Amino acid sequence: MPEGSYRFQVGSITCTVLSDGYYSYPAPWFFPNANPAELSQALESHHLPQDEVLSPYTCLLLETGRHVVLVDTGAGEYSRTTGAIQARLEMAGIRAGDVDTVILTHAHPDHIGGAIDLFGRPAFPNARYILSELEWEFWTGAHRDLSHLRVPEASKDAIHSMARRCLGPLRHQIEPVDRETEVVPGVVSIPAPGHTPGHLAVLISSGGHHLMNLGDAAVHPLHLEQPQWENGFDLAADCALLTRRRLMERAVSDDMHVMAFHFPFPSIGRASVKNAGWQWTPGW
Ligand SMILES: [Zn+2]
Repeated sequence: MPEGSYRFQVGSITCTVLSDGYYSYPAPWFFPNANPAELSQALESHHLPQDEVLSPYTCLLLETGRHVVLVDTGAGEYSRTTGAIQARLEMAGIRAGDVDTVILTHAHPDHIGGAIDLFGRPAFPNARYILSELEWEFWTGAHRDLSHLRVPEASKDAIHSMARRCLGPLRHQIEPVDRETEVVPGVVSIPAPGHTPGHLAVLISSGGHHLMNLGDAAVHPLHLEQPQWENGFDLAADCALLTRRRLMERAVSDDMHVMAFHFPFPSIGRASVKNAGWQWTPGW
């Protein structure tokens, strides 16, 4: 596989993780309620920088034989270090027109920015776009409140304007979901609120094998080790922590592989119960 891609099987479903790029965030944005000394020690024990988190953006291509599904679209033109998804798809032998289903875990810029092209048109012209009904209502409605995000106001404004800019052109192709839904055979969207109101996880199952895509229910492996550590981009932190625990307990009890959009590339691995949280073991 070319650089930035990694292919594996979940039963008969061919899965390819595709790197859209990465972005660097100040560490406090990712761990706003962590005790600074404990955070410093945890970062040091993993040989990670103290001040910033280099966060990968990783999308997931699913080829079932009958369907071509893309889970999240990356950030598109949002920053100079992102926007590689179209090229990665081509390297994987997939043209934009081949994708028949796009699942948007939520409408943050790093997940939805690649859903429209440079001209503001849907980047996957033949796809239906699966999005939570709550997510659509939140970003397009009048009562949007981002005051609980623990990131600077400029970031909140950027998040808001990007969601509006992308959702408008997609409106005729969006297929809203409001409960656990089998999107195509073997691929199920799961309500996973907290990060955003309509945040979705995605469960891929075939032949007795499973992959749980957490979306942004955890954005760093330290969020599994320390499951009480919040993410500054979570709109409703309490709800997000409950969701993380619920998804992880399901993944561990059913012996699933786990994927998370922002975990170190290739963003897949396994988790096992350790202390009050989970230990992350990367790889397939
Ligand atoms: Zn994200």
